[in-house]
Amino acid sequence: MIPLHRPSLGHEELEAVREVFESGWLGLGKKVADFEAALAEFLGVRHVVCVNSGTSALYLSMLALGLGPGDEIVMPSLTFVSGLQAALFAGMRVKFCDIEAETLNLSVSHLEKLVTSRTRAVLAFHCSGLPCDLDAVLSLCRERGLWTIEDAAHALGSLYKGKRIGGFGDATCFSFDPIKLITCGEGGAVVVKDKSAEQRLRSMRNLGMEKDAWRFHAQGERREHKVCTRGLRLHMSDLNAAIGLVQLKRINDFIKRRQEIARYYDACFAGVDGLRVIYRQSPNTVPFNYIVHVPGKGNILIEHLNRDGIQANHPYMPNHLQPLVNQPLGSLPVTESIYADLVAIPLHPSLTDQEVEKVCQSVLTAFQKPR
Ligand SMILES: *Cc1c(COP(=O)(O)O)cnc(C)c1O
Repeated sequence: MIPLHRPSLGHEELEAVREVFESGWLGLGKKVADFEAALAEFLGVRHVVCVNSGTSALYLSMLALGLGPGDEIVMPSLTFVSGLQAALFAGMRVKFCDIEAETLNLSVSHLEKLVTSRTRAVLAFHCSGLPCDLDAVLSLCRERGLWTIEDAAHALGSLYKGKRIGGFGDATCFSFDPIKLITCGEGGAVVVKDKSAEQRLRSMRNLGMEKDAWRFHAQGERREHKVCTRGLRLHMSDLNAAIGLVQLKRINDFIKRRQEIARYYDACFAGVDGLRVIYRQSPNTVPFNYIVHVPGKGNILIEHLNRDGIQANHPYMPNHLQPLVNQPLGSLPVTESIYADLVAIPLHPSLTDQEVEKVCQSVLTAFQKPR
């Protein structure tokens, strides 16, 4: 099977892990600090805090912004379940927003209708690396006094108005799980706007402690255990950060190859009746996955690709239709009418040219149009 996603890991990542292993300090330490500094430089921002997953990044962002029980957050339904679970775990109430069919990003006009006096935050998602209408979201949030949190799990490296996603909202969350642009094995990061938010995140990711243990260790000081805020153990470890540091050095190659494959697919699918490629604003965005919209043929295309040894899937089940939520049908017409006919096909840097061509041929033959 040609997989949908596959991390590109090599000898250098393995050596980096070996080095941490041999150092005897495996947990939260200098490698995490180095990875945070490298990410800050790549993104062009100042305050980056690394945690153990993208989901933890979303959860801690909400807590660090002071959100909690009774507060309402609005988010798109058609996305990964992380943002929903983070908000529910923080005790929040969730309202779901519809999307634009062209981009699969949130519909600002629907968002405006959903905001009430109880709303405290918006979770903006950049689907498949394409930034949502951030100007409109940020200005709505400013006007109504809401926090903007960004789920940028798909958008590492993407540009919005010439600047990398990362410095726009009050908190921007990234994921480094094994299918993302770069991986740490597992991991996540939060970008915030000021030192005090950064401090809150640093202490909340590590049991509310003011200073991380490794700093005492590195400086030969006696360890203090002063605790001023609530916190959990959600920090990144040096083992994971070491992998991320190597991956970040390779990021430009990953971006280039993903964009190259996406352009190849674009050219191949141009003019195929009944198949629409989701808008991507190439070359400013780094495509996380390659999604096609095939009205009435979603499952047929997936089964056809699977028979040819190619993994393919619906990108997401809408969260408002998950058994956990079970919102009645009819509230999000675009999301509900489109999701079953969206198909993600393989996109990752280690695909060979032959594999890319095989995926193209398989899609074309599903539409009786071999070339
Ligand atoms: C990957 C991902 C996350 C976070 O995932 P983790 O696996 O917890 O790192 C959140 N949102 C979206 C859209 C994602 O794709």
